[in-house]
Amino acid sequence: MNIILLGPPGAGKGTQARRLVEARGMTQLSTGDMLREARTSGTEMGQRVAEVMDRGELVTDDIVIGLIEEKLEADPDGSFIFDGFPRTLAQADALGDLLDRHGTPLHCVIEMQVDDAALVARITARSTCASCGEVYNDLTRPIPDDGKCVVCGGTEFIRRADDNEESLKTRLLAYYKQTSPLIGYYYAKGALKSVDGLGEIDAVAAAIEEALG
Ligand SMILES: [Zn+2]
Repeated sequence: MNIILLGPPGAGKGTQARRLVEARGMTQLSTGDMLREARTSGTEMGQRVAEVMDRGELVTDDIVIGLIEEKLEADPDGSFIFDGFPRTLAQADALGDLLDRHGTPLHCVIEMQVDDAALVARITARSTCASCGEVYNDLTRPIPDDGKCVVCGGTEFIRRADDNEESLKTRLLAYYKQTSPLIGYYYAKGALKSVDGLGEIDAVAAAIEEALG
C-alpha cells in the first residue's frame, strides 16, 4: 500500500507518518532524508546528488524520482508513505508513472486539513528531540516536566530556526501556489481522502486509519 500525506507545512505530516511506520510497518520516504542518505551512500545517484547540492543548486525532479525508484526496487513488497513529495503537478505525474511502472499503485492521498491561524500557533510551538526526532509541541504535547524525551530519554531538544511566523507565511504561500492544486488533481482521480488535521495526534491518527480502510 502506497500513500501520500498532503498538507501545508506544520500540518503534522511527519508525526503521522511516524505513527504509520510504527503501526503498519510502512516506510516513510521524505525527500530531505533521502537526499541526505544518498549523499553518503556512494552510489551513482548519490554522486549526482552530492554534485548538485555542492554546487548550491536545487535537486531536480528526476533525481528525486530516481531516489524513490531505488527505494522501490530495494523493497518490492514494501508499503511507502510519501511525505513532502510530490509538491507540484509535474512531480505528481512523474510519481504516478513511476508507481505504474513498478506495478505498485497509489492506495490513496490523505489530505490533512488545517487552518492558517492554528498552523502558525502550532508550528511556532514545535520542537523535536535531538536524539530520536520525536516531535513535541508546547500547546498539545509538551516536553515532560523532567526534561526527558518519552521515547529515548534524551534531554536535548531542537527548535527549527525557520519556525517563526514570517517564514511560515512564506512556506504557506508556496504551498497554496504550488502544492494545493494536487488536492484537485487527486480528487479527480478518486484518490483523495481528507481528514481534520487539527485534532489531538491520536484523533488524527484514528481518522487516517479510518481513511485507509
Ligand atoms: Zn528522543
